[in-house]
Amino acid sequence: MQTYGKSLRDLMRLRAGDIPRIPDVVVYPGDESEVQLIVDRVVAANAVLIPFGGGSNISGSLEAPPDETRTVVSIDLGRLNRVLEIDNDSGLATIQAGTLGPDVERQLGEHGWTLGHFPDSFTHSTLGGWVATRSSGMQSDKYGDIADITRGLRAVMPGKVLVVRPLPHTSTGPSVREMILGSEGRLGVITEVTVQVHRIPEAADLGISVPVLGRRAGRHARDLDQRRPPIDHPGLGCAGDQLLLRHSQEVDWNTDFVAGEQGLDEGAGEKGMGPRAGLPVLHRL
Ligand SMILES: Cc1cc2nc3c(=O)[nH]c(=O)nc-3n(C[C@H](O)[C@H](O)[C@H](O)COP(=O)(O)OP(=O)(O)OC[C@H]3O[C@@H](n4cnc5c(N)ncnc54)[C@H](O)[C@@H]3O)c2cc1C
Repeated sequence: MQTYGKSLRDLMRLRAGDIPRIPDVVVYPGDESEVQLIVDRVVAANAVLIPFGGGSNISGSLEAPPDETRTVVSIDLGRLNRVLEIDNDSGLATIQAGTLGPDVERQLGEHGWTLGHFPDSFTHSTLGGWVATRSSGMQSDKYGDIADITRGLRAVMPGKVLVVRPLPHTSTGPSVREMILGSEGRLGVITEVTVQVHRIPEAADLGISVPVLGRRAGRHARDLDQRRPPIDHPGLGCAGDQLLLRHSQEVDWNTDFVAGEQGLDEGAGEKGMGPRAGLPVLHRL
């Protein structure tokens, strides 16, 4: 599980049993001091340390070379999974690096905040992984890429913790924050990230460009348009070639909203919509 990421190449190699070099040890630290202990021991033993977030990586950076002779240690950040602090005045939240996307949104959502970072791998990737890969998401045009969202961070290096404070702007020297962003675990193990969060909007438009789905979706859109107002969904409609759904703050991140063969799945669920396997998925915009 810790050997490869989730790229097509990785999945095919796994299926073919092509696994030349698996990690020798997997460790699950519970806090930053344990991360420090692990980093220092690994360095002292001249072993290899590979940080592991959600494992959704597609660039091969979770993988040790097949001929690596040193001990390979995979450090899984999955136990560092909490929002630690939200500052209501500045809108800055400090979150542990191993927190998966849905857990970030759920914990922030309990206090009325959202991070607004939704890569396609959202459900299986972590905040630390987003920073380490300089990730971009579906709402980055609104909230910014992770590089814009990240204000400060803590990363464990051999013998010390690097602290990048969440300053609004600096005008001195090279940016250490920029060096960590996209470093893919080579400079240290990120343990905490301070991010800019936003108040959850009262309503959000969900939509999909109809041509993307082809002719069948075009029919849905026409049907919906013609049946309006008889389809009495609060917040359902068409705008140009976009099929739009408007819903309240409650978002179930485990449920995709989809357009069904007969138009929207009117009967299902409180919102009058529901998941239906094998049908086009409407992404959150
Ligand atoms: C189906 C699919 C869709 C995807 N969609 C997108 C997308 O929309 N946008 C996008 O940007 N990417 C996307 N990706 C790529 C991938 O999901 C991202 O790169 C993601 O940011 C990786 O996060 P992760 O937690 O899974 O990290 P991992 O895969 O576990 O690790 C990725 C790299 O970061 C390092 N790393 C992880 N955590 C830490 C840490 N705490 N400290 C230091 N280094 C760390 C690892 O060592 C590794 O080098 C997608 C991947 C898949 C499989």
